[in-house]
Parts: sequence; structure tokens; C-alpha cells
Amino acid sequence: MANKLIYFFGKSKTDGGGDMKALLGGKGANLAQMTKIGLPVPSGFTITTEVCVSYYKNGRKAPADLAPDMEKAVKWLEKEAGKKFGDVKNPLLVSVRSGARDSMPGMMDTILNLGLNDATCEGLAAAAGNPRFAWDSYRRFLQMYGDVVMGVQKKNENDHEPFEEVMDALKKEVKVKDDTEFTAVHLQELVKRFKKLIKDWTGKAFPTDPVKQLEGAVFAVFSSWMNERAILYRQKYRIPDEWGTAVNVQAMVFGNMGDDCATGVAFTRDPANGDNVFYGEYLVNAQGEDVVAGVRTPLAIAEMAKDKTIGAAHKELNDVRKILEKNFGDVQDFEFTIEKKKLYMLQTRNGKRTALAYVKIAHDMVKEKLMTPEHAIKSGDPEALNQLLQPIFDTTAYAAATKEGRLMAVGLPAGPGAASGSVVFTAGKAEELAAKGLSVVLARIETSPEDLRGMIASDGILTARGGVSSHAALVARQMGKVCVAGAGDIEIDYHKGTLKCKGVTLKEGDHISINGTTGEVFHGQIATADSELKQVLVNKTMKPKDSKVFQYYDFLMKLADKYRTLGMRTNADQPDQVVNAIAFGAEGIGLCRTEHMFFEGDRIIAVRQMILAKAEDDRKKALATLLPYQQKDFEGIFRALNGLPGCIRLLDPPLHEFLPQHDNKKGQEEVAKQLKTTVAEVARLVSELHEFNPMLGFRGCRLGILRPEITEMQARAIFQAAAVVLKEGIKVKPEVMVPLVGFKKELDLQMEIVHRVAGEVMKATGKKFAYTVGTMIEVPRGALTADEIAESAEFFSFGTNDLTQTCLGMSRDDSGSFLPAYQGLEIIKANPFASIDRTGVGQLMKIGVDKGRSTKSDLKIGICGEHGGDPSSVEFCHIIGLDYVSCSPFRVPIARLAAAQAALRHPAKPVSAKVIKDSKAKTGATKSKTSSK
Ligand code: PEP
Ligand code: MG
Repeated sequence: MANKLIYFFGKSKTDGGGDMKALLGGKGANLAQMTKIGLPVPSGFTITTEVCVSYYKNGRKAPADLAPDMEKAVKWLEKEAGKKFGDVKNPLLVSVRSGARDSMPGMMDTILNLGLNDATCEGLAAAAGNPRFAWDSYRRFLQMYGDVVMGVQKKNENDHEPFEEVMDALKKEVKVKDDTEFTAVHLQELVKRFKKLIKDWTGKAFPTDPVKQLEGAVFAVFSSWMNERAILYRQKYRIPDEWGTAVNVQAMVFGNMGDDCATGVAFTRDPANGDNVFYGEYLVNAQGEDVVAGVRTPLAIAEMAKDKTIGAAHKELNDVRKILEKNFGDVQDFEFTIEKKKLYMLQTRNGKRTALAYVKIAHDMVKEKLMTPEHAIKSGDPEALNQLLQPIFDTTAYAAATKEGRLMAVGLPAGPGAASGSVVFTAGKAEELAAKGLSVVLARIETSPEDLRGMIASDGILTARGGVSSHAALVARQMGKVCVAGAGDIEIDYHKGTLKCKGVTLKEGDHISINGTTGEVFHGQIATADSELKQVLVNKTMKPKDSKVFQYYDFLMKLADKYRTLGMRTNADQPDQVVNAIAFGAEGIGLCRTEHMFFEGDRIIAVRQMILAKAEDDRKKALATLLPYQQKDFEGIFRALNGLPGCIRLLDPPLHEFLPQHDNKKGQEEVAKQLKTTVAEVARLVSELHEFNPMLGFRGCRLGILRPEITEMQARAIFQAAAVVLKEGIKVKPEVMVPLVGFKKELDLQMEIVHRVAGEVMKATGKKFAYTVGTMIEVPRGALTADEIAESAEFFSFGTNDLTQTCLGMSRDDSGSFLPAYQGLEIIKANPFASIDRTGVGQLMKIGVDKGRSTKSDLKIGICGEHGGDPSSVEFCHIIGLDYVSCSPFRVPIARLAAAQAALRHPAKPVSAKVIKDSKAKTGATKSKTSSK
């Protein structure tokens, strides 16, 4: 390999630094950085991640230069430490530890005390004046080396650890309970037995030569990059396999030489609530693994100040705490050892934290000028902001439920937070119990728009089928409801009114609790509490000045707004949802699904009359009944928007969704009675209108094209509402959106109606208002012919729910049956209905953007599929140059932060003004129809 394989950190030289994480791994880069800024770090060297990559590329063979370079590095380290590898009087011992670019805690292997053998052990005992310590270190080394390098491991889960078994046998023989009670002689015997165990198990003797030991350990760390745990961890956190791990070889210091020694871990601030307090724990006379293993109970770091022997190190640690925050610009999680009263730093990294700690730390450290605003934005997980918005299970009650074994099933975490209440199986029952003031969880095999009232009345929604963009999930997110979707193990029997799982049967009214953050379903009640943020922004029961959490959150959001270039909109179809979304930072509506309004109050009867109407006149009569309802809805929405743009979509779903389905005979009887027709007629219509997945039939703009009076009614309702609200002195910005367009002509036909009606309304009311008409791009043909469609459309909005199902040929409602397996097989990396499939669907989007803007260079383009609230998809939308994303109200803060992160990661390329001018001149792009008045 041409590149340098090994980087040093020590007194005489340090050739790495904190900004070299890709090459040296997080641990190696930060060790180098700490050394550079003068913190007490034992000397060592880092073998680069490139060596690991090359090791795998060459069929698990290290580059030829590695062995000679390592030899030189060891020589250098001997000089630095003033000790020698294999020296019987003053032996050098080292630790060998993995270190990937992003920390993968506990996933890969570590070996301590390397360099020990019978001779050096005696030397160590003499040098330390403590034989027990030396033999204890030796037995620990054998144990780790035997396990990690030589594979002496239990063969299946129910076996005992082989080394532990040998140790337990000796404990019995010499009648001690704990290994701390072993004497030096006992430990010497244990070393003998461990060596025999290794020989018996592997047929090979334990290597006594420290150079051979080091070689074995380095390769074992490389190999651990591909162990099952590490692979799984990388999948979960989307860390590429190609990164590889670095290996850190560092001179050992000992926290277990006596009572003037200690070892510990600490955070520069509290990672749970973000408080600016020194937080951590330590153990006297112990080695690092003892703190993690939990065999002995560690002491709180504050206790150290009172310790007569090592108390001075506490002050030193406090100074280190400040230096670390100043230099690394973030909260640090670090490991240290005190050897004979002297403090050594073994590692530091940015501390993992809860969402609450994240917003508080960002707020505090930016104000203290310790953290850059950019880092404050970049270092958070947007998704985790959910934790701040949702009701939560009371911690003690949750722990008790888990302990009592009340977990029944785990589904998809579709709407975060916790809900606990009576389980019901119908929307009607949900409303009935909610009206009595009860908390309700609506459990359905799957939900449909018919269940909407029940969903509104419920605290939580549980479905046995359906994915993250199923009806239940998207409505739950939009309403900010707790939801677990697709919990496949539960069996719901509507006839018997039961929910069964793992031998437990719940009847209607029994208690159930769901955790929409984890997907867990429990039987029985678990107490919950409302989040502070919700009390300030949604319930308005708390004033902003009384909530610290709100202030921290608000600070971060305002910071995010400074960086993001994407606009923020919301998917909302009720005024209260709009108000919530604006409180969360939305700048308009990106999608109002008008059909959701059809289920409100009694208007569903008129909707059904419209569907059943055989003649156009009858249909018009039904639509005339609907018009005032729709108009009132739009008025409410325009008022809530108070001048912000509102993108309203014309009717989209297949008509069968508005009728009681095959399995709902009672519902069909009721409809027949209401509409004065026969049950058979209703049933016939249900069959006729029924759509097979993935709903590619008579829906979208096809409805409005074949039944233009529907579009006419909706357009009239929108514009009349606009005129009314305008008269009240409130600005309006309606945008009418046509769904499921694949042909320019489809859009043209609908636009004709919309423009005609707009003109009529303006004339009749004497009010002029600006409006635009655009289209959703949600079928592949729409994207592929976007240049033609853009000749008519005044804006595009990507409907990525439908675009995903039509691009992939996978139904959004029932792909849950095979998608998890597809993820397991790595056919797909993430659920394409949750996170945009960039290479497939993303390519269609890119084509749509490029072609659309080749016709109209300033064409406004957004997204309103469920992906609009997914951080990775938001990033993609930023990259391809969309103007805004639209998501459910409760995901707006997540999208705001994700958009700011995307802007920092991908600064916009300046578009040449000339290009814009030229393309406008060529196409003669049009503007909106009328000007505002
Ligand atoms: C879409 O298809 O992405 C979309 C927003 O429309 P709907 O989910 O209502 O089909
Ligand atoms: Mg759609």
C-alpha cells in the first residue's frame, strides 16, 4: 500500500488529529487530538481504516508493509514508554482496541494487557511490587485473548462461558465467592488452567511471544468488523461496510494496582437531561471492563473529591472536562484511568443523548460559545425530536409492565408516543366510550376513511395489517396520534369482539397500552403523561415562558430556520391541524386531502347519494348539498392559514372507500335505508366500485374527468370560500392541485373547469384573488412527461406514496407482508414507503424536476407524500432542488431540522442567472392567472 499505514500519538510526535476520523477512526483521531492539546494520554499508534479495507479486499490478507511497519511502531512505543516488549524486568504492555469512524459501542473486540507471558508477568509483579495485580492482569489477558483471538467461546446460548466455568470451579475448590478474593497463588493456578483450556479447546498453545500476540490481536480486531453484532449495528445505523475499522495500540496504564488507582467513565454534562453538571462514575482498584460489567457498583464522580488518596485527580478531571468541551465543541463521553494517583485519558467521543438533552445542550453550549451553531444543527437526530412531542409512559409503570411480562406483540412504530385505554374494534364504539371520557385504543385489522371518526376519538390506533404509509399510519401521524401498525401477531375477531395474542384474549373494553415509539403492545393499563411541548404549542395550557423545554426547542428551531433553504408545509385538512402545524413552523399547506372532509358530520350521506346517482341531475343535486359543507371547511382553513398558501387537492380516492365494505352488512343496510334503496343495490355498487390493490382504477383526476361536476363543485367551494375570507380582510392564497396526472390533457381538462369556475366566482362575488393550478406527480408517466405537463401546470407536488407504489409495483397497503424479509435479505436497505428509494423513485423525481424546469425554469416543486417528513428523504429533496417539503403537522419540527442539516451538508450550487434567463426566454413561462387585489 502506498499510503502511510500507521499514525503515532505520543510525547515525541503526534501525526494525526481530531479531523481525521475517516482514516484513524473516531477513537484514534480523538486520542491524537487529546495528545496534541496536552492532555495526559498514554502513547500509542493507530493502524488506519485503509489497512482494514485492504485486508478485506485481499481475502483477509494484510498489506505486506504492515508487519515491518508494526515492528518499527513497537520500537517507537518502547522508547516513548521507557519499557520493552517482552522485557522480564520492565515489560511494555499494550491495549489493542477497535475504532470505527462512527462509534459502534461494544460491537467490536478489545484486548487488554497484551505482552504478558510467564516471564513478563513475574517482571510486572516485581516492577509493581504487587504479584496479585500481575497475575490478575495475566488471567484477564488470557481470557480476552483466548476468547477473541483463539475462539474459545461458548458454542450455544445456553452454554456457560468456558473461562467462567474454569474460574467457577476454582472458586468452589478454594472456597471463595468473588474473584476479588483470589490470592496471587490462586490466580497463578487459574492462569495454568486457562492455558490448558486454550490448548484443549484449540489444539494450539497460547503464544508467548508479544509480537505474535500483537499480530493475532490486530487481525482479530479487523475480523470483528464482520462479526454478526457489528454487521447488525451497521445495518441499523446505516454505517457502510466499506468504511472498515482502525486499530489502536496503546501503552497500558493500570487502574487496578491498588487503592491509589481507579478507572471510570464520565460525561461532561448530563446526557439524560442536558444539565451542566459533571456526570460519571468510577471504581477504585479496577480495570475498565469492571465498570461496564456491573459486577461491582461504581461510585458517582462527585464522591471522588472526598477520597483522601485520589481526591486530587477529581480536580484534574474537572479541568479536563472544561478543556474537552472547549476543544471538541460538544459534550464528551470519556474514559479515564488513575494509576498511582496519576490521571490518564483513554478515550473521548461526542456523548449520545436524549432529545431533551440535545435541545438543552445545543441551547446552552451555543450561548456559552462552546459549540458552533452549525454543529448544534448537525449533531442532532431529527427523528428523535418526536420524543419531545409525545405523551410518554410513566417510567416506573412502563418498567413494571415489562417486568410483569405484559408485552403481547411488536408492530411498526407508526405514530410515536404512548397510549393506554380501553380497546375497541369499531369507530362507533370508540366515539361512544370517548364521549364518556374514557381513553380509547382503536384496534382494527386495518383502517379505512370510514374509521376516521373513531380514530379522532381514540388516544391510540393499533392495526394488525398495514405499513408506515398505510391509512392508519398516515392519519395517525397527521393527527399526532399514537399508532402501532401492522402488528402481525395479533388476531382481531370483529364478530366475537376479541383481540388475541400469545395466549391472552382481550374483550372490547379491556385495557391495552401501546408504545408508538417502539411498536410495543401491552395488555393492561400503563399510566401516561403529556409532553411539555404539546402543552405549550397544541393545548396552550402552558405559557412559553413557563417551559424551559419549549425555550430550548424554540432556540434550536429558529437556528434551523436560518440554515434551511427548503420551505416547510404541512399535510392538513382541518383548521385545528393547520393551527398546530403553523405553531410547529409550517409556512402553508402542501396537501389538503379534501376527501377526509367528506366523513365529517352528516355529509357522508350526500357523498353516498352522489355515488349512487344514476343520472347527472341526481348527482348534481347531491353535490349541491355538499357544496356549502366544503365551502365552510375551506373558509375555516383559509382563516387558519391567515394569508399563507393552501394547496387543496381535488377528490382522489376510489369511490368504494365511501361505502361500507363487503364485510359490513349492517353498514350497507343502514346506507340502503338512508338512501331509500335496496341492500342488494348497495352491495352491487360496492362490488362494482371495489378496487384491487394497488388502487390503480377509477380514481384521481379520472374521477373529475368522467364526472366533471365533482371538480366543478370542489372548485366552486374553494373559490367561494376564498371570496368570503377575503371579504373579512384575511389574505388567501389558494392552490388547486389535480391528482394522479399522467397525461397533459388530463390536467388541461381539469384546469379548464377550475379556471372557468374561478372566473365565475370572481364575477359573482366581485372579489379578485390570485390562485394557481398545478398537479401532483405521482405516476411514472407524469414524471417522464413532466416537460409537457409543465406547459400547463403552475406547480408540481410529488405524491411519493403513489409514485413509490407505481414505480416499484408494490402496493402501499399490503407490502408489509414481505418488506421486512426484503430488508433482511438486503434487497432494499430501508422501507421505500417511509424513506425515498433514491435510485428508483428518486430517479423519476429527478427526471420530473429536470424536465419540468426545462419548460419552466422557475416551476415551484414540492413533495407531499409521507416521505416529506422523513429526514433522509428531506435531504434528497434538498439535493434535487425542490422548493418545499410538506408533512403531517407533528413532523414539521423534524423536517425543519432535517432541512437545515441538508443545507449544511449540501450547500447549494449557485445557479447562473444567465441560464435562468435563457430558459425563461425560450419557454415563455407563464405566471399565475390573476393578480391579487
Ligand atoms: C401520494 O400519493 O404521495 C399522496 C400524497 O397522495 P395520497 O397519499 O393521498 O394518495
Ligand atoms: Mg396519491
